[in-house]
Amino acid sequence: MKIAVIGNGIIGYVVSKYLSQKGFNVECISPTLESAQTYLRDKKFKLKNQNQNINISPKLKREDVIRCKSVSDLYYSKDTNDFFALELACEMGLAKYWGANLACAALDDDIRKLKLGKFEKEFLKSIIPILDVQEFYSKKSHKQKNIKDYFDRLSTKRFELKSSKLAIWENKCLLNNLPGFNFSKAIFGNSFDKKIDYKIIDGRVNKIQLDNKNKKLLELEIQLSNGNQNRFHEKYDYIFVCCGAIGSYRLIRKSFNYKPIEKDIIKHHPLLATLCFLPFLPYPVNHFETANINLECKLKNDNVYVNFIPLLGSIKEIIYQSLNRKKINFLRPIIVLIFKFINRFSNIPLSPGWFLRRIYISNIVLSSRFTRSRIFYKSGKIYIKGKFIKNFHEYVFNNIWPSLILELRKRKIYNLFFKPIIVAKGADLHYASTLFKKTDNDGSLLINEDYLKNIKILDASSSEYMPTANPTYYFIARAIKLISKIK
Ligand SMILES: Cc1cc2nc3c(=O)[nH]c(=O)nc-3n(C[C@H](O)[C@H](O)[C@H](O)COP(=O)(O)OP(=O)(O)OC[C@H]3O[C@@H](n4cnc5c(N)ncnc54)[C@H](O)[C@@H]3O)c2cc1C
Repeated sequence: MKIAVIGNGIIGYVVSKYLSQKGFNVECISPTLESAQTYLRDKKFKLKNQNQNINISPKLKREDVIRCKSVSDLYYSKDTNDFFALELACEMGLAKYWGANLACAALDDDIRKLKLGKFEKEFLKSIIPILDVQEFYSKKSHKQKNIKDYFDRLSTKRFELKSSKLAIWENKCLLNNLPGFNFSKAIFGNSFDKKIDYKIIDGRVNKIQLDNKNKKLLELEIQLSNGNQNRFHEKYDYIFVCCGAIGSYRLIRKSFNYKPIEKDIIKHHPLLATLCFLPFLPYPVNHFETANINLECKLKNDNVYVNFIPLLGSIKEIIYQSLNRKKINFLRPIIVLIFKFINRFSNIPLSPGWFLRRIYISNIVLSSRFTRSRIFYKSGKIYIKGKFIKNFHEYVFNNIWPSLILELRKRKIYNLFFKPIIVAKGADLHYASTLFKKTDNDGSLLINEDYLKNIKILDASSSEYMPTANPTYYFIARAIKLISKIK
């Protein structure tokens, strides 16, 4: 049996690995950044730097991310209005730069409901590393030990404060340079594991075609990106689409040219940002720069999820990036000295370093039920219009914000902003549900009132449900569940 997996993002990668471990003949079709670039040059496109002013993660300001984004924006054509849409034409897709926050505790119930078999659970365990941040700190330093007790004391049913679990290989971590905003071999997804036993075709799928007679044999039109502009057709028994919520929508709309009965939506998370002071939860001098602590908070009518990210790491990264941009590298050693100085005295209570190591950037993730963003397809192009529900801002400022601050205070977490920053729509980078009306519970595609069991959409696009916590780990587990019965 020959299976095509379209897309080599984190879902396509895990799915291809799983299927090849089960003995299937798998071909994963997805472009690399280099070949996408070659293809664009060949088409005489001019590369543009389309860096958008999105204040969400210093990662998005990295030079390599900007380069990758500007190539990808031309390669995957789309037009957005009040929406930050990111698709990356590279191995591992968005996960090449992700925060690796698996949100294990908050996703536990959802993943349990998937009822994965023993083999599937073992497979996920073997492929994705899970590192408990506070446990790691406690192991490395006696001073951090009290933090674990603190977590145990504070965990209640209504309000769960947890150590972050990151997709990081502990044995690849360098103690003096723990993973953060820059490339790191320790972060799962940052580099592509070439030890694979399936075939990769470096190209983009233009179209999925059906054999009209028996609909059993499926054909892909594949556009190689190697500069020769080669197109070829290949036949498969199964097609698994893993192009991300935007990419999968584009491919299905282009291939089957149907008119949606209702307008299609794209779910995402509204995101608020603030600074919080956590006097009893300092991060160590050497810390992970992404989420260190997660909080699942059940307010009266809403669930929110908060990622606490050390402020010091972000400040350092922002300063370095601006020095690099302005090419004033001689200031770098001075900045390093200042940070060393701050860190050296940071154990002295009430010193500037003591305060700084207790301040976190807090990203507050709200439920996707507040979003009303639309996606549609016309003449080869995707259009996305960002929208929140009516009165979203009033609801946030009058309901969510005051009750969240109160709950935080009960747990000795002190918010430092009068009002939160409302981050641009789509900049949470979690997209879902674009194709849920075109698929059944198994992810099979609905075409002409027929569910095609041999075409499945495995990524977040076929899911109506979107967990509030960072959702990627759930969507990986769900993708494996959807194909676990394939024989
Ligand atoms: C900076 C950043 C931080 C993040 N942090 C977190 C976090 O901490 N926790 C979390 O849960 N999530 C996080 N996310 C989101 C997470 O990375 C994504 O949800 C996840 O990577 C999506 O994976 P995917 O495989 O579904 O799609 P994608 O990553 O979009 O991959 C799709 C792949 O398909 C390919 N493709 C598209 N169209 C075609 C076609 N027609 N033919 C062939 N190939 C095609 C693309 O090139 C790409 O390689 C973050 C994202 C970013 C960018």
